[in-house]
Amino acid sequence: MSKPQRPGHCELPYFPVVGNQLQAGGLPITHLAQQLGNTPFYAYDRAIIEQRIRLLRTLLPDAIRLHYAVKANPMSDLLQHMVQQVDGLDIASQGELTLALQTGINPQHISFTGPGKGTDELQAAIDAGVILNIESATEMRRIAKLAENSGVRPRITLRVNPDFELKSSGMRMGGGATPFGIDTEQVPALLKELVTLDMEFLGFHIFAGSQNLRATAIIEAQNATLALAVRLAEYAPSPVRLLNMGGGFGIPYFPGEQPLDVKPIGENLARLVEQAKTALPDAEFALELGRYLVGEAGIYVCRVLDKKMSRGQVFLVTDGGLHQHLAASGNFGQVIRKNYPVVIGNKMGVKKTEEVTIVGRLCTPLDLLASKVELAVAEVGDLVVILQSGAYGLTASPTAFLSHPAPVEILL
Ligand SMILES: *Cc1c(COP(=O)(O)O)cnc(C)c1O
Repeated sequence: MSKPQRPGHCELPYFPVVGNQLQAGGLPITHLAQQLGNTPFYAYDRAIIEQRIRLLRTLLPDAIRLHYAVKANPMSDLLQHMVQQVDGLDIASQGELTLALQTGINPQHISFTGPGKGTDELQAAIDAGVILNIESATEMRRIAKLAENSGVRPRITLRVNPDFELKSSGMRMGGGATPFGIDTEQVPALLKELVTLDMEFLGFHIFAGSQNLRATAIIEAQNATLALAVRLAEYAPSPVRLLNMGGGFGIPYFPGEQPLDVKPIGENLARLVEQAKTALPDAEFALELGRYLVGEAGIYVCRVLDKKMSRGQVFLVTDGGLHQHLAASGNFGQVIRKNYPVVIGNKMGVKKTEEVTIVGRLCTPLDLLASKVELAVAEVGDLVVILQSGAYGLTASPTAFLSHPAPVEILL
């Protein structure tokens, strides 16, 4: 058994190769495709997820509660698997609330974030007893009103838009002007108003950014997060019992990117937890992670339907496409389009390679899965495998576009 190299990438951390075949869940990729009876499909490997969470648990202090952000991948079997290993779920809609509750998790371990929560959503969340991360003054008052009718005292945190940013993030979620959370400067006034409302204040939620691969940047943001929470706690109606520090742990997608070094982050968090024993003695700490927990555990597999030569370029036309994997096409938040790591899953050891462009079956030039990559020479029927596809895959894609059937998803 050997580990494949992706061209220009660090070694593939997961998904071993036996002979010419990439293995998923212990099966050669062609067998898996045969068993499922159809391509394209998404496959998620539970052992890889377990391994990732075990690693985190050893590197992070015990006091840190680990939450999973459901929007990264809400597939129900996967969610059920996650719930057995994490301490809480973060949701962002009523649909995710339903999925989360179906796992049987204690609602007290669910927190609901997102700007523009609807009245029905808020009511359902209040009735279920989940933690509401409040995003604005309007939302706070709306929750107070709704709670009057339901007889449940809402458990809330304030989501703070920090006055700092997480540097070199793939996606900035805080600092500057954003629709997310309440600007730091406005928080004291809201906390004052909160005293007049019948709600249980738990603490703060401070999320500064996403998809970050630099430990030093994450450490800096976490230090600033604790300092900010301590500062804001002075205005709070009761002691801070929960500080959700966000997440932002990234995974490598593109050539030259290196995996995040979590060890120094864990060491720094241990220091922060110690500091907090005097500064915020009643507080529990949570990290909410999405892609870092599941992103590397998933693959998207499609089949070559046609191989064409056009003015000197080889095109592999597959039965997949951006309608099922928008992120791989570069249209989900990439500024400059780069290729996701991709392999021909049934020709892993094949020496003879050629430069190809891999496209989907949609009638738009945006439907590009890989541009000018050097891969094993592929033919019609071969399996194109896009790696790092366990997060923001199917549910982050416009599946209705062109009315193709939905792909299968399987947890192995
Ligand atoms: C999307 C989101 C996450 C998860 O982000 P990842 O980059 O997948 O880790 C965490 N918290 C909040 C509030 C989010 O909106």
